[in-house]
Amino acid sequence: MIIDDSHYDVIVIGSGAAGATVASDLGQRGHRVLLLERGGPMPLVDQNVADVDLFRKDRYHPAEQWFGTDGDPFSPQTIYAFGGNTKIWGGVLERMRAREFEGLTLQEGRAPSWGLDYSELEPWYDKAEALYRVHGQQGADPQAPHRGQPYPHAPRPLEPFFSELQGCLARQDVHPYPLPLSWSESPVDPSGDAELFGVDPARQCPSVVVRGGARVSRLHVNPAGHEVRGVEATIDGQAWLFSADQVVLAAGAINTPAILLRSGCERHPRGLANGSDQVGRNLMKLQLTSILQLAAAANTGRYGRSFGITDFLWGDQNVSFPLGAIQNGGGVLQDALFAESPPVLSLVTRLMPDFGLQQLASRSITWWAMSPVLPEPHNRVTLRDGMLQVNYEPNNREAHDRLVYRWIDVLKAVEADPLTQVVKAAPTHPRGEAPLSAVGHACGTCRMGENPATSVVDLQGRSHELINLTIADASIFPSCPMMGFGLTVIANALRIAEAVSGSLQ
Ligand SMILES: Cc1cc2nc3c(=O)[nH]c(=O)nc-3n(C[C@H](O)[C@H](O)[C@H](O)COP(=O)(O)OP(=O)(O)OC[C@H]3O[C@@H](n4cnc5c(N)ncnc54)[C@H](O)[C@@H]3O)c2cc1C
Repeated sequence: MIIDDSHYDVIVIGSGAAGATVASDLGQRGHRVLLLERGGPMPLVDQNVADVDLFRKDRYHPAEQWFGTDGDPFSPQTIYAFGGNTKIWGGVLERMRAREFEGLTLQEGRAPSWGLDYSELEPWYDKAEALYRVHGQQGADPQAPHRGQPYPHAPRPLEPFFSELQGCLARQDVHPYPLPLSWSESPVDPSGDAELFGVDPARQCPSVVVRGGARVSRLHVNPAGHEVRGVEATIDGQAWLFSADQVVLAAGAINTPAILLRSGCERHPRGLANGSDQVGRNLMKLQLTSILQLAAAANTGRYGRSFGITDFLWGDQNVSFPLGAIQNGGGVLQDALFAESPPVLSLVTRLMPDFGLQQLASRSITWWAMSPVLPEPHNRVTLRDGMLQVNYEPNNREAHDRLVYRWIDVLKAVEADPLTQVVKAAPTHPRGEAPLSAVGHACGTCRMGENPATSVVDLQGRSHELINLTIADASIFPSCPMMGFGLTVIANALRIAEAVSGSLQ
């Protein structure tokens, strides 16, 4: 094993939404930081896919297999690269609603509270939106939480057919609003991501070292078992050992628990930081269903996410429990999650020649219905012969189905409206649920809390058991947010970075 003779203030593991944010924040505070990322730079051609290629190749699947609930191997959709999953995200950066922090009562049970108030995260949301250049419109979302200042930038312009569709929806008494979007204005890669707003600024700090192709395999602890002494990573097939005063894990909700489980030792036989047996448990995946609608005229099929609807967030007529949110999907040729999600459609389109798929893309409008799930201990990440095993059964399904059917009713009403020109009635609205392999919206596997018997880290992300280990990514969420939670990951990472910095003074 090669032992790196530099000693750092902090080693950050993973350069996605959380890790890149922590590394650049700590670097800007002058700390000596080593950022270890298992991937490398994602080629621009892969970042900006906007064609039928999206469906044809397992373009966004690493050469790695995990075992699924049925015991069979599957290929996950997850990005190992500088920027992590933000390299292919939709860039919709929503805040969680204040009520979600308190613990929502869903149809199937009560979600845990976060132990934090919205007001505690609000200043970090402001910072995160400024960092990621979020474009949005204050007051447009009728369910938006309090904000003390306008969005940093005005909303992105809508495609003309979307402006028209927005009017059609308003006539059905729903309230579409422009989605808050991270947008860089770069002519080569305009959507914002964690490489641009985290890794690149980190690289500019003289005290930060960024190493790609560095896959962290395990953490080593001191003989007493209460301090991380070394971070082992494989680089070019060779084992390396790095050391720092503080270690921040941010490898994402699946790989962070896997690293802890792989780091088991005599003092920690169930895996590191796992005295509570909660590491890997309570896996939650935002429930996502895509719904297709027929456009009246051809569109480009190459547009980003545009507007959202929160009218059914807290319920509906005669429904007193939360259902979830609706957002339009990106164009069929540009939305990596869509290409993944309706397995039936992907299968059909794989068999179709390019022209057929182009036609399908230009004639459709996609919608996403998204609903929260509850944490359950049996939904978990474990290791099987050193490989990842993901056992997952979604819950709260009836509420999600209600949302899907309610939205299809709205679409039908829009199509039946004689004033509607932009979409057409179709015999059916094809739909598909995101499969197990779509793990981009996973969280919960190392939950935070005040009680060491029921959580892995405290409210600052610090391990209850190891004095210098912090977790900063989506794995520490106690409950599943109702919409994409990238902004909450970033805001929370900024909050955690401040605490880590404080511990180094
Ligand atoms: C197609 C798609 C669309 C999405 N759209 C949106 C959206 O519009 N809005 C939104 O809010 N969210 C969206 N998301 C979700 C969002 O990307 C995630 O919530 C967010 O990236 C989670 O951040 P993270 O830091 O927890 O993990 P990640 O961003 O996944 O980062 C984890 C990082 O750790 C690295 N890593 C893993 N294992 C190791 C190891 N052993 N050693 C070293 N490095 C390691 C990975 O390579 C990666 O860089 C989308 C996700 C996908 C896949």
